[in-house]
Amino acid sequence: MISAATPQPVNLPIRPDLAGESPYGAPQLDVPHLLNVNENPYGPGPEVVATITELVTAAAAGLNRYPDRDFPALRQDLADYLARESGVRVAKEQIWAANGSNEVMLHIMQAFGGPGRTALSFAPTYSMYPEYARDTHTTWVAGRRESDFTLDAEVAIATIREHQPSVIILTSPNNPTGTALTTDVIVAVCEAALELDIDGAPAVVVVDEAYGEFRRAGVPSAMELLARFPNLAVSRTMSKAFALAGARVGYLAASQGFVDALRVVRLPYHLSAVTQATARGALAHATTLLATVDSLRAERDATVAWLRAQTYQGSPLQAAESDSNFVLFGTFDDRHAVWQGLLDRGVLIRETGPEGWLRVSIGTPQDMDAFKDALVEVAGL
Ligand code: PMP
Repeated sequence: MISAATPQPVNLPIRPDLAGESPYGAPQLDVPHLLNVNENPYGPGPEVVATITELVTAAAAGLNRYPDRDFPALRQDLADYLARESGVRVAKEQIWAANGSNEVMLHIMQAFGGPGRTALSFAPTYSMYPEYARDTHTTWVAGRRESDFTLDAEVAIATIREHQPSVIILTSPNNPTGTALTTDVIVAVCEAALELDIDGAPAVVVVDEAYGEFRRAGVPSAMELLARFPNLAVSRTMSKAFALAGARVGYLAASQGFVDALRVVRLPYHLSAVTQATARGALAHATTLLATVDSLRAERDATVAWLRAQTYQGSPLQAAESDSNFVLFGTFDDRHAVWQGLLDRGVLIRETGPEGWLRVSIGTPQDMDAFKDALVEVAGL
């Protein structure tokens, strides 16, 4: 046996803009309470596992062949699910899917960003967006949210006019703040995008609704705006409410022209036959899988109320309004010490957001009890 081990570090011609960069990712640790990456704490039950196993077994017999590049059956299932969830019906040709909404967003940047172009979002927001921009040589601009993490339509329009982005990403509910946008703001942004001239076309607007299913009653989905704006896409994922993060399935709904542009940049056969079968198995049980959403919402609201009732160094603790399955709370003089103290007690949360804030994902009632007990001890509430 010849060992292929090489000395570290090696000198390789990495792109200058990637030199010294480290791979993105939150710590993956083996602790009892995993509340750091906004997963659903409830795994798929035996019925769902049985259906997925059956469909994956059938797919396995054909794994000598490449999968269907255009996955019409899965796109139809996703369109049917969206119609039930949002009340808005789109054709399967208006659906796109990939390995997580991360990859869907990369396709958007590959198709509509690129050298000489700009992508815009409003901070604090999801920290992967600048990485998609970097990887596609797209200039990244972070506009600003208000101190309560809402987005002011006038500020958004002025930022769009100033930077002339080809891609505008609105995250609703936003990560890490949990803030949902109002329809008025999304409409104002879509209208400002229509006024731009990007090589003779308007800009595209992506509303990232990864946490859409957790929104409170009465909060609308941007799905309702699709018929009005052919430059709009609404992105969703099966990783959160659907409890399917391990399968890596994200998707979007948009005009057919938008989807056809994404089909140009995808790798051939990017969605494996196993992934397609798994997603279809889960979608067949959408109602069962989404049954946990109501209890997670209730647990979220209870967590916000509990945090706001706590006193830290003489002042009430703050918790941001949340329409997601997580809560941003703070502020702490030394948030890292609080994060570490919780971890030492078996509770892993996320050190993210503006200085002094921390984010906790909503877990089971047992997870949340462990979180509260540990926080009381560590922060001296
Ligand atoms: N968008 C937002 C706002 C997110 O928070 C996440 C995951 N943390 C994603 C997209 C990506 O999710 P996935 O790739 O698992 O679909």
